[in-house]
Amino acid sequence: MTLMKKTAAELQALLHNGEVSVKEVTEDSFKQIAALDGQVKAFLALTEEEALAKAAALDNSPKEGRGPLFGLPIGIKDNIVTKGTATTCASKMLENFVPVYDATVVEKVNEAGMVSVGKLNMDEFAMGSTTERSAFQTTHNPWNLDCVPGGSSGGSAAAVAAGEVPFSLGTDTGGSVRQPAAFCGVVGMKPTYGRVSRNGLVAFASSLDQIGPITRTVEDNALLLNAISGVDHRDSSSSQQQVPDFKAALTGDIKGLRVAVPKEYLGEGIAEDVKDKVRASLKVLESLGATIGEVTLPHSKYASPTYYAIATAEASSNLARFDGIRYGYRAEGAKNLDEIYLRSRAEGFGTEVKKRILYGTYALSADHHEDLYVKAMKVRTLISQDFASVFENYDVIVGPTSATTAYEIGGAVKDQLTLYANDILTVSVNLAGIPAISIPCGFSDGLPIGLQIIGKHFDEETLYRVAHAFEQATDFHKRTPSLGEGTN
Ligand code: GLN
Repeated sequence: MTLMKKTAAELQALLHNGEVSVKEVTEDSFKQIAALDGQVKAFLALTEEEALAKAAALDNSPKEGRGPLFGLPIGIKDNIVTKGTATTCASKMLENFVPVYDATVVEKVNEAGMVSVGKLNMDEFAMGSTTERSAFQTTHNPWNLDCVPGGSSGGSAAAVAAGEVPFSLGTDTGGSVRQPAAFCGVVGMKPTYGRVSRNGLVAFASSLDQIGPITRTVEDNALLLNAISGVDHRDSSSSQQQVPDFKAALTGDIKGLRVAVPKEYLGEGIAEDVKDKVRASLKVLESLGATIGEVTLPHSKYASPTYYAIATAEASSNLARFDGIRYGYRAEGAKNLDEIYLRSRAEGFGTEVKKRILYGTYALSADHHEDLYVKAMKVRTLISQDFASVFENYDVIVGPTSATTAYEIGGAVKDQLTLYANDILTVSVNLAGIPAISIPCGFSDGLPIGLQIIGKHFDEETLYRVAHAFEQATDFHKRTPSLGEGTN
């Protein structure tokens, strides 16, 4: 029986009593990866030698002062820089890019005593919702290998769901932690903008990007968010806000909690099976003492176009640095500087990334920026105000994370506009900078469904409290996919 399906608390108890060593826990993670990743294809790179060396050092360290994540394996999305280990953003552009420093979150998980086992697949530069946009491989959903794991943090969610690692880090610019967590039946938190340092995260859209934890249980998620949160002088947008003990919020008590359900989140375009499970989840919350009220978020219908104007505008600027000179891939045989730029970018970036750079450049162009970028920024304010007015009377907003369960591989990606539109339930949270968590709330045809709980700025505590109470009252988090052993 693998150790990878145990919770942090269970693993800590085993480590503390000397029943297992960090080396054994680490080896178990690599054993699981060896058995399963041939099918799941979540990892782009493994760092076995470094991990086992760290495990040995941890085993020899003094017992006092070991934190709650001591000795636990973690996988890192491949747009978070790792010193000495390639960080590719799943792009040919950065295939050979080996960073000379660790991202702040990587330093923090190391300080917490965690053992990083490798880098996880994603849509190229985090642009996508299926992980099919990776330049290197398609990750498969552990619940049904014919389906996508969601994206862009598909590798991070699939690795946890498959039981290859108990923890991973993803990033969420418009849903990329929550939607894959929903598709893979795990817990994914998009923290408040500024809660977690972005230093060392390869930027997609800087005003929207946040790093977030993906785990099997709410408690594990809270522990990992505690480890990575906090102000960082290397990210001027990181917040001075006090970081509470998120685990202390897991009281199980949600009596009197005011839950808002936006009518737009259970309306047209949301699959019936998803609506059914969300409605059943609301009943669970009610039975635990919460009160439910219907609200409206009138500008949510503009969320996807607003997000795509802003995210692509910022991406077009952020990705300008990949020019064949300063970073990344350089085309061979270019005859002059212009040709280096043109050919390196043409050959190094995939189609979706190029499309977004073009949209973004257009949205910022002299003739169109008033109509596109500036207008989108105004609508962004209206979307934030919609949330603020709901939060005057409610503690959390609850709805689905995604309009459907996981798509079939090769199916959805043909219709890119539908994929963009399907981001409607997640992107407005990033536009407003507020936190949201996705937790498992049911299954349809063997595929998981995610419940999204959205909160006020810097109120992750309430999200964890609600998510934990729901989790304790249900057993969805206890189910695991029945992946066969061995590779194919
Ligand atoms: N699916 C969204 C997109 O394609 C979100 C991506 C993300 O959060 N990184 O942009």
